[in-house]
Amino acid sequence: MYPDSYGTNRITLDQMKAKHAAKMHPEFARRFFAYIEAKGGLLGVGGGWRATGSQPDKSGFAPEGQSFHQDQTFASGTVGYSAVDLVTGNGSAKHKAPAWADTEDAGRWGLHTFINGEPWHIQCNEMRGWSTWRNAGRPDPHTIALPDRLTPATPSTPTPTPTPTPTEEDDNMLNATSLWRPKGYSNVFAVTPDGARHLGAETTEDLKRRLIAAGQNPKVIVSDHPQELKSVLALAGLTTADLVK
Ligand SMILES: [Zn+2]
Repeated sequence: MYPDSYGTNRITLDQMKAKHAAKMHPEFARRFFAYIEAKGGLLGVGGGWRATGSQPDKSGFAPEGQSFHQDQTFASGTVGYSAVDLVTGNGSAKHKAPAWADTEDAGRWGLHTFINGEPWHIQCNEMRGWSTWRNAGRPDPHTIALPDRLTPATPSTPTPTPTPTPTEEDDNMLNATSLWRPKGYSNVFAVTPDGARHLGAETTEDLKRRLIAAGQNPKVIVSDHPQELKSVLALAGLTTADLVK
């Protein structure tokens, strides 16, 4: 099982492909999922594709239309995204950001992490900045030879796993109510592809009651994952100083 999104959910490789592969450039997808499989469950996808028009207009984010998380038209005519933000499993606790060392072998799969302060952002080796790529004529990543599949770390006899239940981080790209709390108390955000709105603060219990009353699943609550928090704050134009204490 592989870590999925920014909570504690884990999914199979097939489920990860079903969730993220369709919009990827096919060569990026080929390299990426081969690498993820070779890592044997250490790495998973925190965030992948972003809709055109959804790129946060904030420092720390590429300008709208210039992110490899968004669809780009390659020289071949292929349209797809070609960057993923990774997470690593963290036992039963929430997934965390990978360390640089976790991806130092990525080059063998034609991938690299290289953005200052973002050890989680991975893309094709031959692609760095968007402008450089555009000026070079939007080249597709080449089809490269990949290392042999590694022996899985776990026995190949599948053990029955329970049907995945929806979790708080089920879909980090669509409407969700997110929050961060110092124990029991919550900042509430409405998060959509257009940005995040800070809705105020209330206790987690009050929020759950309100969501249940509104017919929403209280498990769409996202809590204190540092990457998620950073992202939601940036979307809302807030800093940690704006959060409830
Ligand atoms: Zn990224």
